[in-house]
Amino acid sequence: MIEKIYEKALGGGLICLSEACALIDGDLEGVMGYARRLRDRFTGKTVKTCAIVNARSGHCSEDCVFCAQSSHYGTKAPVFPFIDIAEIEKAAKRVKELGVERFSIVSSGLSPTPEEFLKIKQAVSLVSSIGLQTDISVGCLSYEQLKELKKAGLDSYHHNLETSRSFFPEICTTHSYDDDVNAVKEALRAGIDVCSGGIFGIGENWEHRYELAVLLRELGVQSVPINFLNPVAGTPKEGTDVLLEEEAMRIIAVYRFILPDRTLRVCGGRNAVFKADSAMKIFSAGASGMMVGDYLTVKGTDIFEDMDFIHRKLD
Ligand code: SF4
Repeated sequence: MIEKIYEKALGGGLICLSEACALIDGDLEGVMGYARRLRDRFTGKTVKTCAIVNARSGHCSEDCVFCAQSSHYGTKAPVFPFIDIAEIEKAAKRVKELGVERFSIVSSGLSPTPEEFLKIKQAVSLVSSIGLQTDISVGCLSYEQLKELKKAGLDSYHHNLETSRSFFPEICTTHSYDDDVNAVKEALRAGIDVCSGGIFGIGENWEHRYELAVLLRELGVQSVPINFLNPVAGTPKEGTDVLLEEEAMRIIAVYRFILPDRTLRVCGGRNAVFKADSAMKIFSAGASGMMVGDYLTVKGTDIFEDMDFIHRKLD
């Protein structure tokens, strides 16, 4: 059965929900083995890497239930306005020296102010001139703004859909799912690669996960971040159990079957879910990229350890 589903994915077919269910119920090692074969066939064994700088933290008007930066909850996450360009430059140069290929400027909020947009534009051209793939995650932007940033050197635009349309009202009430979908569509329309994925372990079920993966495939996003909930004190998700390693690896493997030719990038929550050998485990499940270094409000894995892993070949 798994082999037949593998053949379908290999031939470019979209697996249906009942086939996804067979992968969810199937032997994990077997499912991951085929997921690795799809990864190797479509994206090769090269590990894509990215790192971020937190350019503006906290005070977000939105109420995403998992987020430490929402002003609706009392968390201990840092709060600061948009940082100086010199700080972004310093962070980008360090990332470049370590051999990381993509660098993302990340700021909280639904969309930047005109002053912040000018800083973002300056920062994009600076990061691009350092020789890094330049990415931003700064909320919703207009088509005109996206075009301006593309001209300034922007390579990719990150904007997570977070979860499926049907589950979204459970995790956010301050903006609509279509706001996020339209943000992704506008970036694609502006000719910019899009990095968009979700967060898992927030109470969603497998149908929601399938629904999200299919939408990301249909939209044509090139890179799909997979985040796992790391429950933050003060948010509605405080005290939630983190996903078990096996469940997290199965999510990666099933996503590889639905999105065989995309970069599956494991980002936030990696070291909350995986206690050891996280890089080895996510790649054995079929991932093809990961975020290295610190996350927005939480310390990440050791960047040197990650880069050392990346310089070895995947098996
Ligand atoms: S996920 Fe983004 S939009 Fe939602 S609360 Fe956090 S910073 Fe705001």
